[in-house]
Amino acid sequence: MKYLIVGAGLFGAISADFAAKQGHEVTVIDKRNHIAGNIYTEKEGNINVHKYGAHIFHTSNKKVWEFINQYAEFNRYTNSPIANYKGEIYNLPFNMNTFNKLWGVVTPKEAQEKIESQRNILKGKEPHNLEEQAISLVGTDIYTKLIKEYTEKQWGRKCTELPAFIIRRLPVRFTYDNNYFNDLYQGIPVGGYTQIVAKMLDHKNVTVKLNENFFSKKEEYLNKFDKIIYTGMIDQFYDYKFGNLEYRSLKFETEVIDEENFQGNAVVNYTSHDQTFTRIIEHKHFEETNSKKTIITREYPADWNVGDEPYYPVNDEKNSILFKKYKQLADEEINIYFGGRLGQYKYYDMDKVIEAALDFCENTIK
Ligand code: UDP
Repeated sequence: MKYLIVGAGLFGAISADFAAKQGHEVTVIDKRNHIAGNIYTEKEGNINVHKYGAHIFHTSNKKVWEFINQYAEFNRYTNSPIANYKGEIYNLPFNMNTFNKLWGVVTPKEAQEKIESQRNILKGKEPHNLEEQAISLVGTDIYTKLIKEYTEKQWGRKCTELPAFIIRRLPVRFTYDNNYFNDLYQGIPVGGYTQIVAKMLDHKNVTVKLNENFFSKKEEYLNKFDKIIYTGMIDQFYDYKFGNLEYRSLKFETEVIDEENFQGNAVVNYTSHDQTFTRIIEHKHFEETNSKKTIITREYPADWNVGDEPYYPVNDEKNSILFKKYKQLADEEINIYFGGRLGQYKYYDMDKVIEAALDFCENTIK
């Protein structure tokens, strides 16, 4: 069969790989001038630069881990970001190192008592939004210094107007463990992410067309192909007929610095309003390199307007209701499938995209 895959990101590439192995004829289009979507990395000097923000692979799913390891070798990078709040440095995620620096507490019991005393302002009620969830997990001091302003910069709205699940992504630990993730497996692919997608697309029966916008020839594409796997914005596919879903965008400012080591860590979060960026990534700390220079990227959250790059779906109630209307249309399609962060309007990490893509391929591509 003739498959069209819209978007050469992770979901699209896994589908292309799978369909190609089943013997189908696959065309992959992407409006950008490169493959790999937002996991795209590019070698500059001798450093792999994460062009669309830091991507650290982590999963607890063995099948996903073994799957991705077929396409690259992973190093043993462990994400341990630090937070800079007005020049004070704290370890993330929230753990005994953070609590010790903040309050001088030494034992888990002391830390728990401190948090418990600060949690009292919630008067025992269930957390209904990000602010209440954060205070319930770590108390008011951490909320004030490490969460509130960062989150407001990141999402452009008040913590009281954001869903609680966003902050539950972060572990809270009563051990001296700075590993940002709880997952069993973690690492960065040696040589970057782009090679992974390139290998997935490397088949005789896969044609890749870059700088190709699906919407400039939508009708033609719909007629020409037997099956379409669409990984773009679901609301755009339906011409925003119910109104547009909201996204959060990002702007990146990358700089080459003639210094060997700029900040001593791959990820430093700036958690106060004093800076408009949320974090600085120093790419060389993700992977071994002999580069004497360094490359840093400041990440600025930005409002999203139609035409901007969408990065994060805003999964609040209003948008979730709207998404359901689009999903209903999508579910009624016979030969068109929607996948990935934008197609499914989900705040997916890479491993969850792979999980969803494998599940989709195994059940749908025959
Ligand atoms: N967060 C925070 N302070 C930090 C890091 C994260 O308040 O220093 C909150 C913030 O609301 C953010 C959420 O935790 O949106 C999830 O963070 P994560 O690092 O998982 O976000 P991502 O890397 O996907 O942007």
